[in-house]
Amino acid sequence: MRHTRAHTGNRRSHHGLKNQALGFCSKCGSAKPAHAMCPHCGFYRDRTVVDVQAALLKKTERQKKRAAKTA
Ligand SMILES: [Zn+2]
Repeated sequence: MRHTRAHTGNRRSHHGLKNQALGFCSKCGSAKPAHAMCPHCGFYRDRTVVDVQAALLKKTERQKKRAAKTA
């Protein structure tokens, strides 16, 4: 059934996006999503959760391997 533009607009008035909740890392002070690990240093709740340096190395290693396979 066809709705009027006003009816559609009224429904969509609740569809707006809210601002992302931001927090700051307690270790390095960079902005990060609230309740999430710091993407800069891998810290969450005063301890290291992910070794960011090792994870980055692993990622580049994987990409290198893939590039070698395709070439
Ligand atoms: Zn951090």
